[in-house]
Amino acid sequence: MMATKFSLVGGLSPKNPAGDGCREVLPGVHLVELPLPLTLGSINVYLVRLADGYVLIDCGMDTEASFQALARAMEAARAGWRDIHEILLTHVHPDHMGLAPRLLELTGARLSMHAHDAEYLRDLTQTERHLAWADGVMREAGVPGEIIAKIRGSSSEIHKHFHNLKPDRVLQGGEKIAAAVGELEVLWTPGHSPGHVCLYGRERRVLFAGDQMLEHISPNIGWLPDRDPLGEFLDSLRDLERLEVELILPSHGAPFSGHREWIRKTIAHHAERCARILALLDGASRSAAEVVDELWERTLTPFHYRFAVFKVLAHLEYLERQGKVAHIAGDPIVRWRMT
Ligand SMILES: [Zn+2]
Ligand SMILES: [Zn+2]
Repeated sequence: MMATKFSLVGGLSPKNPAGDGCREVLPGVHLVELPLPLTLGSINVYLVRLADGYVLIDCGMDTEASFQALARAMEAARAGWRDIHEILLTHVHPDHMGLAPRLLELTGARLSMHAHDAEYLRDLTQTERHLAWADGVMREAGVPGEIIAKIRGSSSEIHKHFHNLKPDRVLQGGEKIAAAVGELEVLWTPGHSPGHVCLYGRERRVLFAGDQMLEHISPNIGWLPDRDPLGEFLDSLRDLERLEVELILPSHGAPFSGHREWIRKTIAHHAERCARILALLDGASRSAAEVVDELWERTLTPFHYRFAVFKVLAHLEYLERQGKVAHIAGDPIVRWRMT
């Protein structure tokens, strides 16, 4: 999707053998690769056997192609829709929750998501209000009006894939799920979204990582009000670093291992990003949009430009909380300087 140093996605695809959209990566754990109408290519959802029935971790996007691929995988796993007793969302991004309404109806399953993502979803589904808020953030960041208008177009498109869903079970982190592969513990890992969760199976040393850890991709960390998403993300990585993990099952790309090395690299990546931003603010105050223009070498699409602005804002928020930068309120543009 974005071949810059801040890449959102890289070359990836856990391509399954031809005609088989589903493979058992551990006894009772089916990785199902579903197509996405995004440059991201595909998403992995996981069908995990319980003592009775299954839990489905994430849903895929609400496209017919995705639904059909999931239906074929269910057949291959010899599971019926009503065998899915729980649908658990690692987070509420459209590629993870899009199919949820249709699947909830078919399966009668209960829906689980973290409290913070349930709240985040309520906000995202008030589309006009949310888009107006995002416009305001970008105006303050110094994004020119004509670009904001273009971003609004692409954001409206994406917003069609958010659905106003209420969870039957609100997760806090710490919940246990008795799966055939051993007990899975819900870990709250905020950053990529405020209520992102991973599932950890201590017995098999397996981590269902959602978008928290993707082999060749640094997960997108975007600014949100009253939060420090980058700080939260780095803290959650430090928590994960302490776990014994042999197999990482991500939402995009192939399963991989080496979580400590991945975490080290990712923390270093953000430290380098922070250092570059600090260097840009050394001796000159800049708006977030000016920082974006310095950091990205090539022209971004409106969709990616929006990600870039929120990403830079997340880094600036983090640096401000560390006392390294300060913002200078302006009307309408907020500028940033080194302290
Ligand atoms: Zn995501
Ligand atoms: Zn995703």
